[in-house]
Amino acid sequence: MSMESPTTGFDALNLSEPICRAVRGEKYDNPTPIQQQAIPHLLEGKDLLGCAQTGTGKTAAFALPILHRLSENHQPGSKGPRAIILTPTRELASQISDSFRIYGKHLKLKQAVVYGGVSPKPQISALRRGVDILIATPGRMIDLYQQRCLRLDQIEVFVLDEADRMLDMGFLPDIKKIYAMTPDNRQSMLFSATLPDDILRLTKQFLKDPVQVSVNPPASTVDRIDQRVLFVDRENKGALLNSVLQEDSIHRALVFSRTKHGANRIVKNLGKAQIKADSIHGNKSQAARMDALRKFRAGKVRVLVATDIASRGLDVEGITHVINYELPNEAESYVHRVGRTARAGATGVALSFCDAGEKGYLHNIERTINRLVTVIDDHPYHSEAIASKPKRGSSSGRKSSSGRNYNSAAKPGKNQNRKRYFSAKPGKKTRSRSPRSAVSA
Ligand code: AMP
Repeated sequence: MSMESPTTGFDALNLSEPICRAVRGEKYDNPTPIQQQAIPHLLEGKDLLGCAQTGTGKTAAFALPILHRLSENHQPGSKGPRAIILTPTRELASQISDSFRIYGKHLKLKQAVVYGGVSPKPQISALRRGVDILIATPGRMIDLYQQRCLRLDQIEVFVLDEADRMLDMGFLPDIKKIYAMTPDNRQSMLFSATLPDDILRLTKQFLKDPVQVSVNPPASTVDRIDQRVLFVDRENKGALLNSVLQEDSIHRALVFSRTKHGANRIVKNLGKAQIKADSIHGNKSQAARMDALRKFRAGKVRVLVATDIASRGLDVEGITHVINYELPNEAESYVHRVGRTARAGATGVALSFCDAGEKGYLHNIERTINRLVTVIDDHPYHSEAIASKPKRGSSSGRKSSSGRNYNSAAKPGKNQNRKRYFSAKPGKKTRSRSPRSAVSA
């Protein structure tokens, strides 16, 4: 009896049958551009420099060929990992581990994930049992290596994920140490959302004659996202957030705070307004962070407040809104933040609360994304003073399209039309500005 299975765009990539079956199980019809471009080269054993950020399908782009390679030449009982994936954060490490588990579910390969902030004991036991694939954050990995719980002489594939963020977080010395401990004939891959000079230097050291693939440079990733800015005095941000979150269409909101304490404060204030929220940041135990994420994923908590580092690489489906309670001072962070709401082709809304001190950040962001963010001025806490404050080097400020002079300390009232914050299309009272002026501004 012949068992016909539906064909997908993945069949052309020549991945083994159990891997294609797992991918079909995930209902992936076609490879994403990064998968399409990277997988054939990786199957040939080439080194690769991938310029892509989370949300592009880059995990499968490296995980599928690794699974293919290791299972083709399976070595049961191998003493040490044969592939290692280094990532900057625990959350990302456990997400990558989940992906390997899913894509490799019809294979007999073993994997382990190691990161700091939790007891090393279960990790050590897993390593003792033998693993083929190890996903790790650098610090814990080095600890385990130094305690002789881990050997790296069997490594065939080395992946550095989110390399730019690793460097930002000061992991470069650790990464170099780990790389030096692996055999010379390994296949290496480096993924990074951006390619600044220090990353290019690193690629020269790490990669041999690499193939370079590039998808979704940050500026274009945000094109699908409906982005709006709300000008508000700093002291009114809490009230504005409460007001915005009254809207039911916000099914799942990720709120960004610049600091850990700020994140706690926001959660507390929302609690006072009976809005269930939780936070993830570096001061929380790993168990507490995982718990918050679980509740958010399960829809038990509608609002998750995060700092940039804690949210890095977060893959939660169905985030309808990203809210920048504070604007980040780096435009790159803005791009990463708002990208949490446009996973795998979805669209979403990003709302940024901009106070007087953040106007310059907004300007840089607009230059980076090469477009102007739509202004929402019809909200109860709108500050026309901030909206019309001239940018440096510009004589004309932003004018209100409605011509109304909103009182910055206004209380919620009749003017409040919440739909304006959230509907997919900007309301009449929003101001769209032409991309050209964003470039020239
Ligand atoms: P990543 O960039 O690896 O974090 O992946 C982002 C999301 O895209 C994850 O939720 C994946 O499950 C999903 N994904 C990866 N590859 C595909 C694909 N070919 N088709 C549909 N979804 C995908």
